[in-house]
Amino acid sequence: MHSLHADLHSHSTASDGTLEPRALAQRAKANGVELWALTDHDEVCGLPAAREAAQALGLAGATVHIVGLGIDPDHPELSAGIAGIRAGREQRARQIGEGLAQVGIRGAYEGAIALAPNPNLVSRTHFARWLVQRGIVPDTPSVFRRYLTEGKPGYVEHRWAGLGEAVRWIRSSGGIAVIAHPGRYKFTPSAEYALFSEFKAHGGEAVEVVTGSHHAGDVGKYADMAAEFGLLASRGSDFHDPDESRLDLGLLPDRPTLPRGLTPVWSRWPQALALEGR
Ligand code: AMP
Ligand code: MN
Repeated sequence: MHSLHADLHSHSTASDGTLEPRALAQRAKANGVELWALTDHDEVCGLPAAREAAQALGLAGATVHIVGLGIDPDHPELSAGIAGIRAGREQRARQIGEGLAQVGIRGAYEGAIALAPNPNLVSRTHFARWLVQRGIVPDTPSVFRRYLTEGKPGYVEHRWAGLGEAVRWIRSSGGIAVIAHPGRYKFTPSAEYALFSEFKAHGGEAVEVVTGSHHAGDVGKYADMAAEFGLLASRGSDFHDPDESRLDLGLLPDRPTLPRGLTPVWSRWPQALALEGR
């Protein structure tokens, strides 16, 4: 374990500092900081630029997926939390459409909406499918690479839940929070360690060890991380579509197993243990 190089107190031109948020991010990076916070007096307007710059520099602010298992779908705190996050998607989708129009791709917003069975949940995936169906891009990964990821014309910042919020909503509704497909994030070892530590500190309880996005080496690695952090182990294909997804539903590697020595997340559910015949 190495000690994280953190600097969690700094000021920009948004208050009484003299460097722009972007310049501060660059300075933090140049000075070897791994975890940085902009903390202007009485003011948060520097944060969007700071976040964007920090992300571009690989300093912070990555997006991770948290799965909530065994939640109460009607729990008021959880419902309100996810409704707030969802609400921003409509506006974001319009902006994605505008971004794509600027590079000559028209009608993407309408196209994505038409492909979204739930009009309240338009995802980048729907844009990707539309672009592929239109023959504008050959496949989904290429769409993300060319159009829908940071720095690309159809990329729009979105205010997702913070890690602590997401874990809190899941826990308050009686669920178990799970770090989804950790092998996909391409974090530096120290950033990954920070994610697991923070997740655990917030009350997160499990990690996906076997998933459609994990290569053989990842399974062993995250089995070790689960043991090290005292997390339950989960498995899931991350199935979205029969043609798009790497793995079909239920067709996970090493089908019925998790690596030895781990405690499955379903050990919390008596019905699952009964199924297993314990
Ligand atoms: P959104 O929630 O609208 O930001 O969309 C996120 C979804 O896009 C994820 O759940 C993935 O299914 C998909 N996705 C994200 N990045 C990629 C990528 N590089 N290649 C393919 N699909 C991706
Ligand atoms: Mn996911």
